[in-house]
Amino acid sequence: RAMKEGGNKIFFFDKSMGQYAKEKFSMVHDLRSALEHQQLQVFLQTQVSSADHVIGAEALVRWNHPVRGMVSPEKFIPVAEETGLIVDLDRWVLQQAVRLIQDADAQGKRLRVSVNISPPHFADATFSDHVCHTVHAAGIDPTLLVLEVTEGLMLHDIDVVIEKMKKVGDTGVKFSLDDFGSGYSSLSYLKRLPIHEVKIDKSFVLDAPTDSNDALIIDMIYSIGNVLRIDVVAEGVETDDHAQYLKKYKGLIRQGYFFGRPQPMADWLRDNLHRI
Ligand code: C2E
Ligand code: MG
Ligand code: MG
Ligand code: MG
Repeated sequence: RAMKEGGNKIFFFDKSMGQYAKEKFSMVHDLRSALEHQQLQVFLQTQVSSADHVIGAEALVRWNHPVRGMVSPEKFIPVAEETGLIVDLDRWVLQQAVRLIQDADAQGKRLRVSVNISPPHFADATFSDHVCHTVHAAGIDPTLLVLEVTEGLMLHDIDVVIEKMKKVGDTGVKFSLDDFGSGYSSLSYLKRLPIHEVKIDKSFVLDAPTDSNDALIIDMIYSIGNVLRIDVVAEGVETDDHAQYLKKYKGLIRQGYFFGRPQPMADWLRDNLHRI
């Protein structure tokens, strides 16, 4: 296309591509050093039961960059995924989560923590062994750890995916299917995967009070969750309207700005641990 447009357009095209590659390169470099120099932080977001009890939190990584400020995971997770750095990054977050569960336990609290596992990390040959080893070495109750995976896993052989999940699941660690409905959703995956929980993608929740199609999709995922006897979580519960709308779903777990924004770990513990 650049060729057809001719002339100096090629120059601009090349320059912008070069610029993009440079930025990505510098981000990967910075991200690697961020991992080594403790510039990454775990934030926690509350998950609330249908009876309004705090049942746990999702760990969400933040990058506190000395020049760029707080960088959103939407920006750097894709880069980390493309370069393989995501394995170390996810493992670091997992380690923080496990320590958090230990610390809460020392204070007599059973804190449930959800951690996001990126598809290339799950695909890593050592994934299952590493999780099993981490949980065993920490001596935590494995049922307090939830691993959030996405439909992106399904690009791989589903039998291999199931086998890996079973190996981890045998220890007691739970799996949750995140962002359900946003990707390559297939109901057969929901049925076949050894998961304990499904999270309704926030795009449906955000529009449910006004969009009858989104409302129907929530009805459907909720019903399937009940049939399969797995927990259902609604994410993106932003406003009082959303919270009111979801009241009709018995047993639904809820997460979103309405119940609390993601907060630095220490702040979250101070405000919430006594409620558990
Ligand atoms: P996710 O796992 O689906 O996490 C939920 C995202 O929705 C979070 O964005 C959260 O801050 C945001 N959110 C929570 N409540 C609301 C709400 O009421 N309204 C709206 N509009 N958004 C809400 P965040 O923290 O920016 O993370 C974005 C994504 O980055 C996550 O989506 C997850 O896929 C990924 N991510 C975050 N931390 C990690 C990590 O440690 N490892 C991996 N592999 N991915 C991570
Ligand atoms: Mg998640
Ligand atoms: Mg999600
Ligand atoms: Mg996600």
